[in-house]
Amino acid sequence: MADEKKLVRMLDALGRVSDETGKLTRTFHSPAMQRANALVGGWMREAGLAVREDAVGNLIGRHPGAKAGAKTLLLGSHLDTVRDAGRFDGPLGVLLPIVALEILKKRGVVLPFAVEVLGFAEEEGVRFASAYLGSEGFTGRLKAKTLALRDSDGVSVGELLGKKFTLPKPAHRRGDLLGYVEVHIEQGPVLEAKGLAVGVVSAIAGQSRFRLTWTGKAGHAGTTPMALRRDALAGAAEFALAAEKLARGTAGLVATVGAMTVSPGAANVIPGQVVHTLDVRHASDVVRRKALLALGRSAAAIASKRGLTVRWQRTQDNGAVACSPDLTARLERSVKAVQGRSLKLVSGAGHDGVVVSQLTPVAMLFVRCRDGLSHHPDEHAAPRDLAVALRVMVDFLERLAHSS
Ligand SMILES: [Zn+2]
Repeated sequence: MADEKKLVRMLDALGRVSDETGKLTRTFHSPAMQRANALVGGWMREAGLAVREDAVGNLIGRHPGAKAGAKTLLLGSHLDTVRDAGRFDGPLGVLLPIVALEILKKRGVVLPFAVEVLGFAEEEGVRFASAYLGSEGFTGRLKAKTLALRDSDGVSVGELLGKKFTLPKPAHRRGDLLGYVEVHIEQGPVLEAKGLAVGVVSAIAGQSRFRLTWTGKAGHAGTTPMALRRDALAGAAEFALAAEKLARGTAGLVATVGAMTVSPGAANVIPGQVVHTLDVRHASDVVRRKALLALGRSAAAIASKRGLTVRWQRTQDNGAVACSPDLTARLERSVKAVQGRSLKLVSGAGHDGVVVSQLTPVAMLFVRCRDGLSHHPDEHAAPRDLAVALRVMVDFLERLAHSS
């Protein structure tokens, strides 16, 4: 099949557009991002799309609808990357729709609705430690306080976007859109374990992040009897195990203590203070909140039993995003037609769809990636899986054309 070979060639070429030699890194408005927009914009033009860049630097390729006043279907993902990234996270969801539209054109399929292929300028949050700048700009949700964020060189978002920049309005009115469909690598091991090339996302998990500070009393590791200790690390460790136990016993819940700082941090001193992160995610906000209440109770019980204090600081809180039942059912129909079987899965990672869902219904197609590995140069999706995803997208667009 020449089509997925073309897609692989495009992914490879875009994967060489980087700000750092020897590894793939593209951040918001960096020189490599500008080269990436030029390269992808050229491919969009070859596919017959009208190309523009919006005020925040999102790349938009528009295919007009055959009917006057037709609604617009959004297809896309992000073109920025993490540091030392793989080639698929983001670019796959921008390049695959371009190739799919070319296939339809070759087959003489006329789409009654308009299509916009979106390459968001920022999703990963690398440069300003704030994610979704691209989709926030596109949907008119960029905040004035975001413009004040500064990168490690002291340059603010506002300075980068220029003096004439004003906070953008949404690119579309809600009623003018059919929805948003994003193709993305799974970044997890579920599809691989099930032996499937693609799956349909039912929801993007909500996530809460906290910083917990446990305070006890530092003391001599040799002279303080066990019964008289107030060991902050032992308390934090007991809590981490309680979080693991709760998540293991609750379907779909994930909870992680991922970073921990122990003070004073010496082999012969009882830990007096521990600061650690907690990340809790679930597809249902009700389940996530219930889990957080339970974790709050168990932290309090552990602290009181051990003579410690524990302080919670919330650092992030995003509600879950349910995918559109209608678009998801249509995607599933196409997945069944191409793959024989469809599997629904929850996305544990956040995506542009989280923000775009505030403007229009969203759906997502996940593509199997080797060992579930992502945010790593060895990130890999097999060409035969890309071929399946491509056929699903073509089938989805064809069926949508027939039914509208
Ligand atoms: Zn991504």
